Amino acid sequence: MATKKTTPSKGRRRTPPNPNPEYEFLGPPGAVAMLIALPLVTYGLYFNCRPGFGCIPAYWNSKDGYWPSVGTDPSTYPTDLWNFFVSTWDTDAFYTYSAFMLFLFICYFVIPGQVVEGTVVGGVGGSPLTKDRSNYKLKYKVNALRTLLLIAVLIIATLFIKGVEPFLFLHDHFLGLITASLVWTFGVSIFVYVWSFIPDSNGQEKILACGGNTGNKIYDFVLGRELNPRFSPSPDSTFDIKYFIELRPGLIGWILLNFGMACKQYHDLGRITNSMIFVQTFETFYVVDSLWNESAVLTTMDITTDGFGFMLANGLLTWLPMNYSLQARYLAAFPVDMSLTHSLIVVAVQCIGYYIFRGANGQKDNFRRYGASAPQNKGLKYMETATGSKLLISGWWGTARHINYFGDWLMALAWSLPCGLLSPIPYFYPIYFAVLLFHRERRDEEKCRKKYGKDWEKYCEKVKWRIIPYVY
Ligand code: NDP
Repeated sequence: MATKKTTPSKGRRRTPPNPNPEYEFLGPPGAVAMLIALPLVTYGLYFNCRPGFGCIPAYWNSKDGYWPSVGTDPSTYPTDLWNFFVSTWDTDAFYTYSAFMLFLFICYFVIPGQVVEGTVVGGVGGSPLTKDRSNYKLKYKVNALRTLLLIAVLIIATLFIKGVEPFLFLHDHFLGLITASLVWTFGVSIFVYVWSFIPDSNGQEKILACGGNTGNKIYDFVLGRELNPRFSPSPDSTFDIKYFIELRPGLIGWILLNFGMACKQYHDLGRITNSMIFVQTFETFYVVDSLWNESAVLTTMDITTDGFGFMLANGLLTWLPMNYSLQARYLAAFPVDMSLTHSLIVVAVQCIGYYIFRGANGQKDNFRRYGASAPQNKGLKYMETATGSKLLISGWWGTARHINYFGDWLMALAWSLPCGLLSPIPYFYPIYFAVLLFHRERRDEEKCRKKYGKDWEKYCEKVKWRIIPYVY
């Protein structure tokens, strides 16, 4: 895509902040809490899940096992936290994480992929658009799965040549990798925040996310000010930062870390337990499936509505790879051999979850992408709305307004069940995910209520349940 450089027209004014900001996440205090608490939770999970420490409840009393030391005087907390952060610095881990990011960046440009159009930008989710940008759609390159395949080939080759040894790094330097990912998280968040104030290459104001343009600097920094931060490294290419980070570093990083944990178990035990095989298989399958359906992300709230700031950057660069690999890390430290019954329960929960998750997300994506009259959408009932968008009222979307969340949550549970019931720590993911999805459903409901008004109320009368039919 060629881009023409023009200077901003004289007198162009910045998009003003929302006059009546509707704060989410407890507003600015909540944003500050997120800045501090999210990284600490990731460190906390590390300290609570190490060989010999934390995971088994009996160890929880061990004073020095599970949390970095902080003094008793609250005035020293910032210094304590900073000193703790510095103490976790690991140069090798930082280089490794940075090399991984650079590799993904190069792959994005070098590996061929179809260029697809996203949904209309702005409107309810973003800033009101000027006339020349109504019906404005952005383009995205789809090649994440190919990137993963290339990485898989490189891993298999390394495994044949050097065995599991090189991958033990991922286990042994996990703490340093957390810190490296946080450095990237803060770096990217600061960059996109500053970038959001700079007019684009055509001299136009950036399209801002409604939720991240309140005028409160910390809140906007955390929620994300710009809707689709992107730049053009060369005249014929565009790099969308949110889209790139949405599926690549987090998801691919997650299964790489998982793989490192499996190598660690193999190194220590001389075999891989069936529980580890289940966790690896399910989670890898989830990642491959997400990357296979990469373009489906273009209709999700992350892309269409939310700005890109600290919250998403942390979620995708740190939280996802570091915390979602917890089950594999747990099993590397505390191996579990599952019985046949245990295995069958796990497989059943996973299959039901996937069936719902992919069925619902695929159905909406097909419906939105190809329209009601497309062959794959024949027979689906829908209602027209005043906005022109149609809402499905049969199929998966006729059972509950977010049945896709239920399927996703069942899969999350299936990934923790192989860890057994000795410790609650590996259940962190399904517990946290339930809270996230519950909150997300409320946010989406609010968004849709605003967008569709009376039509949304009619829709809710037809589709009564929020997430789980006949339960909630
Ligand atoms: P959804 O895929 O649930 O999409 C919600 C949007 O779909 C609504 O805002 C509305 O947008 C549209 N919509 C709502 N009802 C209908 C209907 N009946 N017919 C057609 N369109 C409808 O968005 P999410 O981004 O929340 O979730 C996508 C997936 O990602 C889910 O499976 C979720 O579980 C998963 N997820 C996973 C996370 C993780 O950490 N693992 C985190 C977050 C999500 P419109 O304005 O276009 O009408």
